[in-house]
Order: sequence, then structure tokens, then C-alpha cells
Amino acid sequence: MYELHPEHITVDPVSIPESRAAEVALFVLRLDKIHPLVSGNKWFKLRYYLEEAGMLGKKRIVTFGGAWSNHILATASACRLYGFQSTGIIRGERPPRLSANLQQAAETGMDMVFISREDFAKEKIPGELIATENYFIKPGGYGIPGALGAAGILDYCDKKMFTHIACATGTGTMMAGLAMAALPRQVLVGISALKNNLRLEEDVKRLAGNDIPALHFIHDYHFGGFARHRPGLIAFMNDWHRQTGIPTDFVYTAKLCYAVADLCTKNFFHPGSKVLLIHSGGLTGNASLKKGTLIF
Ligand SMILES: *Cc1c(COP(=O)(O)O)cnc(C)c1O
Repeated sequence: MYELHPEHITVDPVSIPESRAAEVALFVLRLDKIHPLVSGNKWFKLRYYLEEAGMLGKKRIVTFGGAWSNHILATASACRLYGFQSTGIIRGERPPRLSANLQQAAETGMDMVFISREDFAKEKIPGELIATENYFIKPGGYGIPGALGAAGILDYCDKKMFTHIACATGTGTMMAGLAMAALPRQVLVGISALKNNLRLEEDVKRLAGNDIPALHFIHDYHFGGFARHRPGLIAFMNDWHRQTGIPTDFVYTAKLCYAVADLCTKNFFHPGSKVLLIHSGGLTGNASLKKGTLIF
């Protein structure tokens, strides 16, 4: 149950009315097929951190996240898989009922410590976790090893086929990795899942350096903010699934697919463009939606 299956990754061509009208070819890189819990991009972002922790003889991985963090759940599962203990430092007070992701992480064996929002913003490590046998990973796996891991995502497609690569962004670590691996003439499009994350561009460039292709950061598709949604997004997720057979999550990948469809109608992509959408996983988050909301 804890095995990873990167060999299950596929590149699926999809066709929706918006892409046909704009004469744009869309393809989806299905990282969601790797593992049900070590969601999509998270395995790529974590692998060099875990490798280093192993080489240093560390016993426990400690990292940070909020209630909706796929990074927390992926870390819990990857630690179980590779034989590390794990602790999540979680933002805010312990809620009476854990979110679906935190619940799963706890069931997977992760210990959790809840800290105030102020301490979380400072990435303050609670005293009891300061120990030489612990290995620390920043929130969302942000950092050069995370980006280098994410650069490996493009090994799972024939990257020269595409004019554009589009992904959802949280910390921007994955986008930085894609930028490192992309070809000079490709255009990278990052759809922010957060509202007003004005640091995003700087955060991506800090990891990816300057020798990278053109980057576009788009902040108009957050649907109210991180992990927020509106009826229009849910309706889109059901339509997209009917048209393509591909499930999306409401926190990241649905906003990406919605954005790309909408950008097609706004002539953002010139006719003949071939756009690769990175399906970065995250489907576990849908468990927090009311039953019956989604048709898949
Ligand atoms: C974490 C996550 C992202 C964002 O990755 P960053 O590297 O933090 O930008 C995108 N999609 C899904 C499904 C995720 O879980």
C-alpha cells in the first residue's frame, strides 16, 4: 500500500470546447497516478531531502504545514515508506476535528505539534523537536533540493513536444524545478492557488536562478484564496471530468485546468500551441467536500 508507481505516469491528450476553439492542443501529465497519498509532485519534491536525511543518519523528518497541506500527508506517507519517523508542525490550534489530510497523516504514523500562527510564520521549531537526529524540511518542501527533485518531473514526458508548460503553484518549488528542466524556448505558466502571493515570482527565481525560460505568473484564479472554492469551480471540475475523464482537486489542479481553459478563450495561447498541464495530484483534499458534490 505504500509503494510508489512513477511508471504509471502517462501523458493524456485532452480536448475541451475552449481548446478546440482556440486551436490549442492540451496534454495532461498524470503525476496523480504515482500514489494515492504521496500526491503527485510531492514525491519529486521530497526525494532529495529524504536521500540526504538517510545519508546523514537522521531518524525523524520534521516539517511544517497547514490543515490543507498535501505536503504534510505526502511527508507522512513517504516517511512510512522509507522508514523514517515523522513529525508535522501544524499551523494554528488543534481543531476539534482534524481535516481529511491531517487525519490521514496521523493514521499513517505522523506525530503532530500545533503552534500559533505567529510562531508558524517564523518557522519556529518547538524546543522538544530540536535534536540532532531530526531532519528539517521547510513548509511545502521549499528549497533547492525540492526544486531539483521537481526538475525530474519532465523526465516523464517527451518535453520537446510542448510550447507551454502550465502548473499550479503554492510555494513555487515545483515551478522552479520545471523552469530548471524546461527548454529555452518554452513558456512556463504558473497559476497561483493562493490569493495575492506577491512573493511568488521572487521565490521561484531564487531557486531556479536566472538562466531559465520565460515565466508567467497568473494570480486571477484563486477562487477566493487557498483551499477556497466557489460553485463555478465545482461545476467546472465535474464538466472537466465528463469531458476528459480526469479527476482534479479543488485546491490546486482544478484551478489550473480552469485557468488554462479560460486562457484559451482569451487567446493567451497562439493557435497551434501545445500546452502541457502538470497534474500534480492532491486528490485526497476532495474528501473534505460534501458527499455528492463531485461526480467522481
Ligand atoms: C503542493 C502542491 C502544489 C504546489 O507545489 P509548490 O511546489 O508548493 O508550488 C501543486 N499541486 C498540488 C496538487 C500540490 O499538492
